[in-house]
Amino acid sequence: MDSTPSAGIADLDQRIAGCRACPRLVEWREEVARTKRAAFTGWTYWGRPVPGFGPADARMLIVGLAPAAHGGNRTGRMFTGDRSGDVLYQALYDVGLANQPGSVSADDGLELHGVRVTAPVHCAPPANKPTPEERDTCRSWLVQELRLLRPTLRVVVVLGAFGWQAALPAFTEAGWSVPRPRPAFAHGTRVSLDGLDLFGCFHVSQRNTFTGRLTPEMLREVLGTAAGVAGLPGRN
Ligand code: SF4
Repeated sequence: MDSTPSAGIADLDQRIAGCRACPRLVEWREEVARTKRAAFTGWTYWGRPVPGFGPADARMLIVGLAPAAHGGNRTGRMFTGDRSGDVLYQALYDVGLANQPGSVSADDGLELHGVRVTAPVHCAPPANKPTPEERDTCRSWLVQELRLLRPTLRVVVVLGAFGWQAALPAFTEAGWSVPRPRPAFAHGTRVSLDGLDLFGCFHVSQRNTFTGRLTPEMLREVLGTAAGVAGLPGRN
């Protein structure tokens, strides 16, 4: 995998989209793109790594897990075209960080205000489960993204324990001091690194939102608090 530093976020996004470092994930994402789901037979699937989405000078970053096979892997944009994205972007809209509540395709006009959305693994994995090796291979993209965002970044919201475990070493590699032992993931937890506040939030997966483990109110609470800490003019 090419670890040359990227010139900027746009360059990084372009390089991520061309990555083929994980053979199992390359095969899976491309097979899903070929076979499709019945409801999306008319779509030309993206079928490539999905880069982060949002402004290059974001003050807040949301870190998920990985794109969904028929969501981001279909539309080419993070959390776009699936139920998890519906929940996330509705909440971002509710707290004033998005211009619209819906997210259906890469050209639907969605804009994020001061916040960027990314993942520690950029390719859709089978059963939503990347291997530890795939997670570690993809980390260098997250490290580069963090380094590029560092001048403006004040807050990170990590969705779920997988993202938390994947992101903490990336913060260290990108130059922040992470306490040892590493802080444990919990919903609502907040950890201060030097100049960066880290929030834990349950993932917006259907397993959490359908069961009420994560409610829209809980999500708005974390995002609204994080936006306030980041100095973003959201509404709460
Ligand atoms: S998961 Fe990350 S490192 Fe692996 S192929 Fe996709 S973009 Fe590349």
